[in-house]
Amino acid sequence: MMTVCPRTLADARREFLRHRSPRILLACLFLALAARLLVGGFTWWNVVPFVVVVLVQPFLEWTIHVFVLHARPRRIAGRTFDTVVARDHRLHHQDPRDIPLILIPSRWVWYLIGSVLIFGLAFPGWPMRTTSRPSRWRSCTNGRTS
Ligand SMILES: [Zn+2]
Repeated sequence: MMTVCPRTLADARREFLRHRSPRILLACLFLALAARLLVGGFTWWNVVPFVVVVLVQPFLEWTIHVFVLHARPRRIAGRTFDTVVARDHRLHHQDPRDIPLILIPSRWVWYLIGSVLIFGLAFPGWPMRTTSRPSRWRSCTNGRTS
């Protein structure tokens, strides 16, 4: 497949936004920021995930690349098991300029969003989570939070 690579930053932005998974992730970022602004109660704990992602990303990327994306098919009880992400990644290595193979497939973005929501529900007291009650509501209950 012949792929045309963007030549300018504007072309790259247009190409990036043409794909579904970046649009989904940007919408999630916008919704998270809007929720934070609506709910209020910003603390420095809200910045921690960004800092952690920046610090951990190179190591996480390498670990995922080696152990998940380059996982070899395994033969168990006469059947071969091969993950979808490893198969997709092998296609990426065959054609590194095929842009959809560079981006996270949108089906995996939905799994990621689901995981984050489940994590938020499983750990409701986690300080980095947006509080479930706006600060205005707390003031209506004379400071009682339960
Ligand atoms: Zn690779």
